[in-house]
Amino acid sequence: MSIETTFGILAAAARDDAAAPSWSLCERRDADLDMAAARAICHVQRLGGGSVPLLKMLLTNACSYHCKYCINRAGSNVPRASFKPEELARIIAQFAVRGLIQGAFISSGIAGSPDDSMEKLVWMAEILRKRWHYDGYLHLKVLPGSSPELIRRAMQYATRVSVNIELPTAESLAAIAPDKSPDAIMRPMETIAHVLQEQETLRADRLHGRKTDRSLQEHAEVFPDAGSGGQTTQLIVGASPESDAVILRLAQHLYHNFGVRRVYYSAFRAEDADPSLPRPPAPPVRREYRLYQADMLFRSYGFTAEELFAGAPPFLLEDLDPKTAWALSHPEWFPLELTTAEYGQLLRVPGIGPAGARKILAARRAGSLQAQTLKRAGVNLRRAQWFITIRGQALPWDLALLPSVPPAGFRTPVDALADTNLMQQLLSEHHQEEKAFRQPELDLGL
Ligand code: SF4
Repeated sequence: MSIETTFGILAAAARDDAAAPSWSLCERRDADLDMAAARAICHVQRLGGGSVPLLKMLLTNACSYHCKYCINRAGSNVPRASFKPEELARIIAQFAVRGLIQGAFISSGIAGSPDDSMEKLVWMAEILRKRWHYDGYLHLKVLPGSSPELIRRAMQYATRVSVNIELPTAESLAAIAPDKSPDAIMRPMETIAHVLQEQETLRADRLHGRKTDRSLQEHAEVFPDAGSGGQTTQLIVGASPESDAVILRLAQHLYHNFGVRRVYYSAFRAEDADPSLPRPPAPPVRREYRLYQADMLFRSYGFTAEELFAGAPPFLLEDLDPKTAWALSHPEWFPLELTTAEYGQLLRVPGIGPAGARKILAARRAGSLQAQTLKRAGVNLRRAQWFITIRGQALPWDLALLPSVPPAGFRTPVDALADTNLMQQLLSEHHQEEKAFRQPELDLGL
């Protein structure tokens, strides 16, 4: 099989990866690239703006596992191909030299034992770093069941590593991905968390000119940025019956106990899956989007999964973002007086984010907190006005900020919280305005 054919098959297989977020569609539109190459390059957004072109590729799509959600499962009728490690390393290096990519995300099927395939991934990374002197971003998938020794070697070269959780409970894993076990997934995650801590210590020692502990000497030759992107994981949403509450509690556990940098949620796509799995008419991308929003509330807004679901249904509302849903079910928090509220309280207001909250506190210290200040602070007044006061007053009327027809008896935005009809109208407008399916930013750890 020619290298071009191999490239085409594996680029397509990587695009169809069931454990990829539904927004990670790839296509670089360059006149001098053939279609296979163009489609293998994904532009992923960076935190803080801009995007980075990454080559998304499999080392092989041959696989002896039977994960029912995956097009590359054993027995699936797809063309199979494999790169030799040195072939893929050369392709990545050449793409980087041509300026087509700034990084690569490389995964693999499990052909034989996990260690057989993991060994090849590590070998590819080693050639890429040592022979080709590639110093760009490299995200390596760690295969479930890989040995600690191979994981350590992979982490000497990878900027970021990830093990896919895939499904949120042992029962679903057994039913849908029967060759995988919780242990085969969680043990590599534990090893990764441990090695990341060692790498952190090494980096700190270097930075401060300290002598490195002897037990860490074996890592002395690591690639300088090895592990700087931390570890991530992915969950498939909608292939199994677990609720959002179960999924988000698991995500919270991974953030707290494994130092996971990001959990990615991937709407289940049924078209290439085993017929025994549910067949929703469309991938649950809105649900995926709500999970990303709730996930953001853990990571940047101080919420916990328990709070989000206390007294609430176990699935997030599809037509309302989780922060607004929480605020509406907690009227005891509002209206919040902005001249005295603490940072953590400000973050509970729909329409106020971390940057807005910091600017509100700065304006307060400067004695200049006014309604106009909020606009300049980037607060979304249309959402926030219902929940706040300044010096005991609701925000001044601004018809542009209100639902089009205030109902009879309507006095202030804060009073309107108690008016069910008005809130329905507001929420419907909010729903229409919301930029659904925005691509979540991908923290590359760069
Ligand atoms: S291990 Fe499972 S998810 Fe991964 S390629 Fe094989 S069948 Fe697909």
